[in-house]
Amino acid sequence: MKRFKGRVAIVTGAGSGIGQASAVRFAQEGASVVLVDWSDVGLAGTESLMPEGTPVMRRVMDVADETAVAELVDAVISTFGQIDVLCNNAGISGSHPPITEQDVAEWRKILDVNLIGSMLFIKHVAPYMQVRKQGAIVNTASVAGIRSGAGGNAYSASKAGVINLTQTAACDLGGDNVRVNAVCPGLVETGMTQRIFDYAREQEKAHKLGSRCELRRYGVPEEIAAAILFLASNDASYITGQALAVDGGNTASLNLPG
Ligand code: NAD
Repeated sequence: MKRFKGRVAIVTGAGSGIGQASAVRFAQEGASVVLVDWSDVGLAGTESLMPEGTPVMRRVMDVADETAVAELVDAVISTFGQIDVLCNNAGISGSHPPITEQDVAEWRKILDVNLIGSMLFIKHVAPYMQVRKQGAIVNTASVAGIRSGAGGNAYSASKAGVINLTQTAACDLGGDNVRVNAVCPGLVETGMTQRIFDYAREQEKAHKLGSRCELRRYGVPEEIAAAILFLASNDASYITGQALAVDGGNTASLNLPG
């Protein structure tokens, strides 16, 4: 399938995990791809996985830095002339203290990257989509944004914010045929969750990770990428403002103990 032939896609957090898998799949499906991350090593690794000849722009930056976001968007327009897809995927997690012991600086940092970073990219990219009356934005939220318990309180609040940002941006931009959706991954093995997986393997309990999902397993980045590409493609032309859980059924049940 070449659903993105002739299209330009920006993917943030493209140096690892879900962003890497998405960027590679966009390239495989014909897109020119703009890779954003604060790790150049990660971006080089992602580019090396792409089909030869893929038009690629790499940018090392912090997604929470508005000046850097605006400069990147200018550079993409100068180079490619258009932006068809924006994937706001860069994210960080944090510690899991009770709210009474939460460090406020950490809270602010997580909201800055996960929520404000996504807002900044929408703010600067959307006008170029509105002018052309076409565009698709996909934000990576989390099941943690739907239910508590899957992340620390800052992470969960940031991802709940991303879901609501998805809805409000969809309302603001829908009149110009710009769609905005979110994916809410469950547990996926990536850089972010590596410590959990390493520890579980050490304890020979890796098989238990994801066992509370209805599909009884954790996910892989390519499964989240497939959902991101679906929402970014014309196959989803009548879908906007939605948050799609890609979680093996984790949020489908109450998962009561016992
Ligand atoms: P990852 O750590 O493998 O990838 C995240 C990437 O984002 C990294 O390459 C990192 O360098 C980059 N990044 C982080 N902060 C940045 C910043 N301020 N500026 C630029 N780049 C930055 O983790 P992942 O699991 O692939 O995470 C991708 C998204 O998926 C995140 O938004 C995460 O919250 C979300 N998510 C992950 C899981 C999971 O189980 N792995 C579950 C739900 C949601």
